[in-house]
Amino acid sequence: MGSERPTFPGIYLTLARSLAQRSTCVVDPVGTVITSIDFRKVLALGYRGNASGLANGCDHPGQADCGCLHAEENAVIVCDAPRAEPKIVFSSKLPCRACAKRLVNLGGVQDLYAPTGEHSGDVLELLSSVGIRVHLIE
Ligand SMILES: [Zn+2]
Ligand SMILES: [Zn+2]
Repeated sequence: MGSERPTFPGIYLTLARSLAQRSTCVVDPVGTVITSIDFRKVLALGYRGNASGLANGCDHPGQADCGCLHAEENAVIVCDAPRAEPKIVFSSKLPCRACAKRLVNLGGVQDLYAPTGEHSGDVLELLSSVGIRVHLIE
């Protein structure tokens, strides 16, 4: 009874994955959602792609460093919530090291949800060293 009711983390991770489909990056489409810790407010959205007004695609489509802004980076740029406001981040992929640091500097991030599967031990260690709890879920 009620066992099919989706959890908020599940819903926001699904939203992050939907945003990834809006990504204009062919190399590594990713979506990110930042919410309040009671899950009631979406504070920011981001997906990987080129800067506004530039071509809708990668600068260097064949390269790992394709020139696109990362999803977490774009979400941090539009997040105007105060630094002190507690936040939760949902990303369709575990952030890269630089984006993990951007999320640290955003301030207030308490938890980060990403899909199970790929883990960069390096990034997990970085986040936990500053007290951000990482949850890898389906
Ligand atoms: Zn790209
Ligand atoms: Zn990144």
